[in-house]
Amino acid sequence: MNHFELTGGELACEGVSLRRIAEDVGTPVYVYSTATLERHYQVLREALVGAGLGDPLIAYAVKANSNVAVLRTLGRLGAGADTVSEGEIRRALAAQIPADRILFSGVGKTAAEIAFALDAGVLEINIESEPELELVEKVARDKGVRADVALRVNPDVKAGAHDKISTGKADSKFGVALQDVGRLYARAANSAGLNPVGLACHIGSQISDLASMEEAARKMRGLVEGLRAEGLSVERLDLGGGLGVPYFNQPEPPSPAEYAARIAAVVGDLGVQLAFEPGRMIAANAGVLVAKVLYVIARPDGRRFVVLDAAMNDLLRPAMYDAFHDIRPVRPREGEALAYDVVGPICETGDTFARDRRLPPLEAGDLVAFMTAGAYGATMSSEYNSRPLTPEVLVNGDRWAVVRARPSYEDMLSRESSPDWL
Ligand SMILES: *Cc1c(COP(=O)(O)O)cnc(C)c1O
Repeated sequence: MNHFELTGGELACEGVSLRRIAEDVGTPVYVYSTATLERHYQVLREALVGAGLGDPLIAYAVKANSNVAVLRTLGRLGAGADTVSEGEIRRALAAQIPADRILFSGVGKTAAEIAFALDAGVLEINIESEPELELVEKVARDKGVRADVALRVNPDVKAGAHDKISTGKADSKFGVALQDVGRLYARAANSAGLNPVGLACHIGSQISDLASMEEAARKMRGLVEGLRAEGLSVERLDLGGGLGVPYFNQPEPPSPAEYAARIAAVVGDLGVQLAFEPGRMIAANAGVLVAKVLYVIARPDGRRFVVLDAAMNDLLRPAMYDAFHDIRPVRPREGEALAYDVVGPICETGDTFARDRRLPPLEAGDLVAFMTAGAYGATMSSEYNSRPLTPEVLVNGDRWAVVRARPSYEDMLSRESSPDWL
């Protein structure tokens, strides 16, 4: 459920018309709904608590949508943050998410990032490999501290809607292999620089199949029991994110309640603090990308192209993952739906949002909204083709605010300079 509805013939976000925002801020523009963000967090929290999973940490995956105002909205509800870089830790802290609710994940943490995380006092560093374990140990010992760490395990489970977002198979770059967990955990327990607090996994994204989630949880349970049998303490189990959302062309993903029930059946009695790292399921349906139709081109062969002022640099998912986004006119015109190829202005055929998409008739100047664009939208955007980054707007009831301004061309150019030989 989201809060983007037709109101008086016009698509609105909560109480604010998307046309008004577009007129004020220009297009393209991302628009996020506070009520939807809050609802998704609460629904998940209630499902997990209701399934008897205690007081789990819901560490929102910052990479899905890292706008500080979005993080602050979630942080105020009690969300933590799952971060994968120093930049994301800084964003979470800037959003006043307490350090003891911040997890630091990722396969390529640098020594400087590890030092920053330790100084900030993050809850735990999720270690993904043996060399990383050695580096965290060294950085912590140099500081004279003991780092709270979890081992991120690669549970060898296939999941995720696309190969590029499938992270839990043995051949992916993520996590410690199952057979190494015991040795590395014991090594951490014996280290003066490390304090192993638990295990973590994250098997993929846009997962619609609870069986893979359950299989991963079962393997994690086996590992926890194995470590405890060796006399090692395991206090926390982080089951990652990955729950899918409906993009309209796909099967309805499992509800948070079904997910929570399946997880509870496997690990509910394990006596660990559970953590979850949802990104997409919190943010995806809470955002749209609003764009303007520049041209409607009718080809002699009957093909119709709609050229928008948004492009793959603003919303990369269709080009990168062949992802489907529902496209809705902000003020739908009367008339028979027509098949359109919806494209952006960038000089690549990959800059195509949809082929043969049936939409109400469109004319130059019309506004359209890409639905379900709140996750992996703005965060994956770039300045490709020297197009300044898309601004972001947060709506709350009848109020709205620009939460990332559109950079000027001067801003864009001011970061570059010519060397003295030119
Ligand atoms: C990307 C990521 C997530 C979030 O995945 P979603 O599919 O957005 O829920 C969680 N944890 C880690 C480690 C990730 O890399």
